[in-house]
Amino acid sequence: MNMNERIADWNRRAQECDCGHEHRAVDIQVVMEHGAIRKVPDYLSRKSYHHVTVVYDANTGPIAAFGVVRSLRAAGNRVDEICLRPAAAGDVIADEAAIVQLLLGVQQGSQAIIAIGSGTIHDVVRIVCAKMNKSFLSIPTAASVDGFTSAGAPLIVNGVKQTFQAVPPEIIFADIDVFASAPQEMTAAGFGDMLGKFTSLADWEVSRDLGGEPFCPVAYRMTKEALDACIDQVDAIAEGSQEGVTALMDALIMSGISMLIIDHSRPASGGEHHVSHRWEMELMELGRKPILHGAKVGVACALLTGKYKELVRTTNERAFQVYHSLPEQEQLSAWLGQVGGPTTTEELGISPEMVERAFATAHTLRDRYTGLKYMNEVLCSK
Ligand SMILES: [Zn+2]
Ligand SMILES: [Zn+2]
Repeated sequence: MNMNERIADWNRRAQECDCGHEHRAVDIQVVMEHGAIRKVPDYLSRKSYHHVTVVYDANTGPIAAFGVVRSLRAAGNRVDEICLRPAAAGDVIADEAAIVQLLLGVQQGSQAIIAIGSGTIHDVVRIVCAKMNKSFLSIPTAASVDGFTSAGAPLIVNGVKQTFQAVPPEIIFADIDVFASAPQEMTAAGFGDMLGKFTSLADWEVSRDLGGEPFCPVAYRMTKEALDACIDQVDAIAEGSQEGVTALMDALIMSGISMLIIDHSRPASGGEHHVSHRWEMELMELGRKPILHGAKVGVACALLTGKYKELVRTTNERAFQVYHSLPEQEQLSAWLGQVGGPTTTEELGISPEMVERAFATAHTLRDRYTGLKYMNEVLCSK
């Protein structure tokens, strides 16, 4: 089955699911193949889009966006270009400045906005598409994160990261020739974001069993299969081969869609993401250069696994037995190292104090019952 058939199949299973969740019928089209970006002009003409805006940054312009702009103009489209400006620390961030740059730059007559780049560029485009009621088209340039398909946009507003309701893309042109040529550091980050599903899925079971939180077996299965496929392909991903990076991108897209189906991040974001968000906010306060999302998540997942293994040794609570099934912390670190990502907080440039603070406070970020919350609120008060 190709990706669109698999998405249709998951949709069907979700519609039949009686877990109590609302299940959204996801209608994102995925074009994942060599030369996928050459299909953009045809798609625009099918949709009768004649005037579009292409958004990129200094990195993704030369590797993909300039070619797309040329081909769209050659096909007779009116194309406005917006190159997002980097923040003081050197990279584009999804903050007020980037959002305003895009809001002011998009012409009234533009029918669609095409994001060409990383997760950050996608988040800026998805919120502006939601606010201006424009169609959102996605061209990811690296298999670096599972958020391309997201309906929510994590944005930094007044120095605080918050997720705003926005829109998912209507189509993703995932061009193997483009994203498989991304720096291995980006691929390793995408792998780290996937590895985080070990703890997010386990935490989801704990949220269900101890917190009585909603649980959807279809979304769980979908994320688990994506994670298993990644682990099967770890050698190919480590080589950075087209086959490996394509398998990773496939998994990231499926993980993203599992969150869309239930309109919640539960399957793909647990304690490891809460810790990662804490680090991100503290780095921002210090004015430090941001670290790739998946790089932080991967390391946080390994550390959290160590703590969860400890937890199951010291408590008889049945809900925590699920943590027994996690791979060992050393195995998680070894996989991260194999794909070429950071394996320790030291390598990430995160101090022991920051690690301690994040683990002590991360559970307060989201109203979710995780093992992390239990360790901080129940064990510490004993
Ligand atoms: Zn993530
Ligand atoms: Zn369900």
